[in-house]
Parts: sequence; C-alpha cells; structure tokens
Amino acid sequence: MRRAAVLGAKRATAAASLLRARLRGTAGHAMATIPPPQELLRPLAVPQRLLLGPGPSNVPPRILAAGGRQLLGHMHPEMLQVMDEIKAGIQYAFQTRNRLTLAVSGTGHCAMEAALLNLLERGDTVLVAVNGIWGQRAADIAGRLGAEVRELLKPPGEYFTLRDIQEGLARHKPSVLFITHGESSTGVLQPLQGLGELCHRHGSLLLVDAVASLGGAPILMDQQEIDVLYSGSQKVLSAPPGSAPISFSERAREKMLRRKTKPPSFYLDMGWLANYWGCDDKPRMYHHTAPINSFFSLREGLAMLAELGLESSWERHRANCTLLCQGLRELGLELFVKEEAARLPTITTVRVPEGYAWQEITAFLMNEHGLEIAGGLGPSVGKVLRIGLMGYNSTKDNVDRVLGALRDALQRCRRSRL
Ligand code: PMP
Repeated sequence: MRRAAVLGAKRATAAASLLRARLRGTAGHAMATIPPPQELLRPLAVPQRLLLGPGPSNVPPRILAAGGRQLLGHMHPEMLQVMDEIKAGIQYAFQTRNRLTLAVSGTGHCAMEAALLNLLERGDTVLVAVNGIWGQRAADIAGRLGAEVRELLKPPGEYFTLRDIQEGLARHKPSVLFITHGESSTGVLQPLQGLGELCHRHGSLLLVDAVASLGGAPILMDQQEIDVLYSGSQKVLSAPPGSAPISFSERAREKMLRRKTKPPSFYLDMGWLANYWGCDDKPRMYHHTAPINSFFSLREGLAMLAELGLESSWERHRANCTLLCQGLRELGLELFVKEEAARLPTITTVRVPEGYAWQEITAFLMNEHGLEIAGGLGPSVGKVLRIGLMGYNSTKDNVDRVLGALRDALQRCRRSRL
C-alpha cells in the first residue's frame, strides 16, 4: 500500500516535471509553479476511534455502505424518491404530519440558521432561552438578522420552568421563542410539555433545537405544538454530519408567507427548499445540487430508527444513560445535572474531578484507549467532561468501556498540587 503510494508520488512528480519541460519557453502556455502537495500523494489516514463525545458518533456499516453507493443525479426520479423517503422518516422521528418537512444540506448550525432566518424579519422580537452555548449561538444568529433579541437566562445545568417561560413571554411579547431540548454543552434535557400551548396563548411561535436529543428522548412535534423543530444527522441517527432534518408547522408557514422581505439567504430560502423537496404543489425545480451521498446515509439512519421504533430508541438511551450515571458515581465522580429527570439521555455531564486537568483526562482516553470523550463547551468549559452514548453507540458494552477507561485515567493521570 505504502509502496504503491510512494510509486504514485514519484510518477506524479515525474509527470509534472515532464509537463514543465514541455511547456518551458512556450510563450502563452499556463504553467503551474506550485507542486502537488506530498501529503495528498499518501493514502488517507483514518485511525479507529470510539466516538463517545457529544457527536459525531460512530457510523454503523450499513450507513457507511449507503454513503458509499454510486451517485444518482440530483433531479433523477429515484433521487427524488429517496428524498421523499427521508421526508417520511423525519415526519416519523419528529412525530409530525407537517407537509413542510425536509433536510437542509448542512449541519445542525445550518438548520438553526435556516429556522431563524426564515422565521424572523428585521425588527421582530425573539426571546431566546439561554442556559448553555446553543441559546448563545441562536441569540448571535438572530442578532445578525436584525431581530430584537431578548434573553431569558438560567445557569448552565438548569432548565426553564413553565413559569420562567410564561414570565418571559408576558414581558417581552416575542414573535418567536427559541429553546434547546437537548442542551449538549451542559447535559440538560428541557421539558417541553405545555410550552407550545403557552407560546400560542401569548401569540408566539415555538422553535426547538433537537440536534442532540432527537431519537434519544421523547419529542412529539404535533402533540407538543412545536412550530419549528430541527436536528442533525451525526448524533442518534448515526449518519455522517452534513444533513439536518427540519420541519415547520402551519402557523410557522403562515408567518413565513406574511414576510415583507425575502429571507436573506438564497441557499436556505424555505420557499425554494420546499419546492425542491416536493412540499408544495408546483413541479420540483433545481435549487442546489443535493449532497446525494449524505442523503443516502441520512435515509439509512432514519430507516434504522424506524425499524427499531422510537419508543425502543428512547428506552435504550435512557437505560444506558442510567447505567453510565451509576458507574460514574461508583467511580466517585459527581454528575453535573442534579435532577435525574433533567439529565439528557444522550450526553452525560460529569464535573471535572478535583485536582485533575480535564485536558489530561481526555488526552489519556484518546491516546491509551482510542476513545473520545469531550471537555465542556461555552459556559461549561473547564467545569465538565461530556460523555455521549448516541444511536449505534448507545450500548452497555460502550458504557463498560468508557467506565473502564475513566477508572484507568483517574489512577494514572497526574493530580495537580493545587
Ligand atoms: N445544537 C445542539 C444542541 C448541538 O448539540 C449541536 C452540535 N453539537 C448543534 C446545535 C450544532 O450542530 P452542528 O455541529 O452539526 O452544526
């Protein structure tokens, strides 16, 4: 393999110098002066790793195989059929009958921007529930769109009660409330029951980020009256990052139809995307070239969830998270989220043990065990370690592996003399 790569590199270099010699002195001929990068003439290196951080998670062979299939054209009827299947899969995963349901060609942030920039116009008031990085990011994006951003704050590790939200809605009278269901920077699961109805009583739409929670904890878009819901492909769906499910209720669609100005992004304009995804009555038109292989993978991720069943998936994540939490406590570690019911079943946060540097623990796990867990993010940096058990990776075996690796780290990592 390596010999072949070296031979390939030599051949490419020889071909380049032959070409240069031929062109030398030939006026008017373009000549590349920067040689082919040597690193690209070596084979791609991808080490084996168990991804037990907050995402991405490992991709099962079936989904990898789907992503490796030959391309179809992005407007071929068979491709449009795959997109229809994805749409049905998202409707199932979200528990919605919304017609305006599709996957944007990008990661979770892309869906977050798509939701905000289609819903909000300059001057609209948006209330953002901030108890971690995702609220901070949503507030940043909404501010860039010229919206009047109001923030409802809670310390990292806590969730919002209906009373908190009610007070915020009454005070700020927003047209949209943004909240994160699975706060992956802190490990908090936000209760959603009653929120939609409350928002609607106050003339507000409810926008929910479920990137880290979809398939791992119950979320019932229609029953919970959620107006816009989005997720990602690389967490419980166990597909590679690059496509993000999103859905809009009739109320949200009506608000978008009432816009006085076009959405500020062509790529993420829901009018165009709705048409490409067959969510309107017009013939489907080219908008952008779909990331075909990402869609194949997403289709398989959704198919695996449909085969397992949502309830079984929720239960599996809950059971493995409970096992993990027990094991962490037995190691003498302290869980960051106090209330059991408020713990996100997909991502568990544990306080950085006293006297240890979190970077040393994560590096030790990576180097000695080929296993990824993460430190904190945004407001939780330096405070927590984050362990993800999502989709294909949510197994008892992985609980045992990460607990064993952590036990080893606690014994072998250097304790500071603080
Ligand atoms: N929201 C939440 C809750 C997330 O966990 C993430 C990813 N960690 C995102 C949004 C952003 O997704 P992405 O990294 O795929 O853009």
